[in-house]
Amino acid sequence: MEFTEKALVLKVGRFRENDAWVRCLGPGHGVFTAFAFGAARSRRRFCGCLDTLNLVLFQVGSSKRGAYLTLEEGTLLHGFPALKAESSRLGMAVNCLKFAEAVEAGPAGAKAAFELLLDSLQVLEESSEPPTDVFPLFFRAKTAFEQGFGPDFSACHVCGKPAEEMESGFFVVEKGRLSCAACRPTVGLCLPASAGTALTLDRLGRSRPAEWARLDMGGLVRRQCYEIIERFVAYHLGLTWDGGRFRKV
Ligand SMILES: [Zn+2]
Repeated sequence: MEFTEKALVLKVGRFRENDAWVRCLGPGHGVFTAFAFGAARSRRRFCGCLDTLNLVLFQVGSSKRGAYLTLEEGTLLHGFPALKAESSRLGMAVNCLKFAEAVEAGPAGAKAAFELLLDSLQVLEESSEPPTDVFPLFFRAKTAFEQGFGPDFSACHVCGKPAEEMESGFFVVEKGRLSCAACRPTVGLCLPASAGTALTLDRLGRSRPAEWARLDMGGLVRRQCYEIIERFVAYHLGLTWDGGRFRKV
């Protein structure tokens, strides 16, 4: 198998004296790991490429028996220098990156996962205002929504009452649906969702990272969004943040 793919570098590890392994996310192959043999010796083949948070055009080959992938050559397309120079932006970018890696989007969800991560890094790189600190949270939600778990925040899933008319609605985590107080199910995890929270999450599902700063309403809405997104991601993607990384629950 040989292919050329534009990919974001998620992780790099060195082994032996001159070799490296690289974990990448690309639009065609999703998350994949490949070996760059002799990487440390041959600066020409991978000039400036083999670092986390780089966008690289890789030429990928495979071992003789096809047991593993090899990186033949790389061309650095974007290194996101501004983002890497500022610790708060870098922290958010790394958080998004770790989540994208943990989700392990396969070929079916690869294009969406790659484009969302690339868009997010571009916003963190280019925005003149400091990005909102809910950015990584919104990234997790949007990733979950795009990987086929898109919830509906528009109306009660039982009686159809619109979200904006609900004074105290609930989000049914297991179903990924909204419920009014009267239709609230008696079993399963239900989290409070105000009209503002439902509206925010509904808009999040239809927005791109460049618009996320405007979606942060603070206060109660922010707290409810946080709770709903974390529980939703844990339930549907099986991922939770633990000790500096995302782990399967
Ligand atoms: Zn209802």
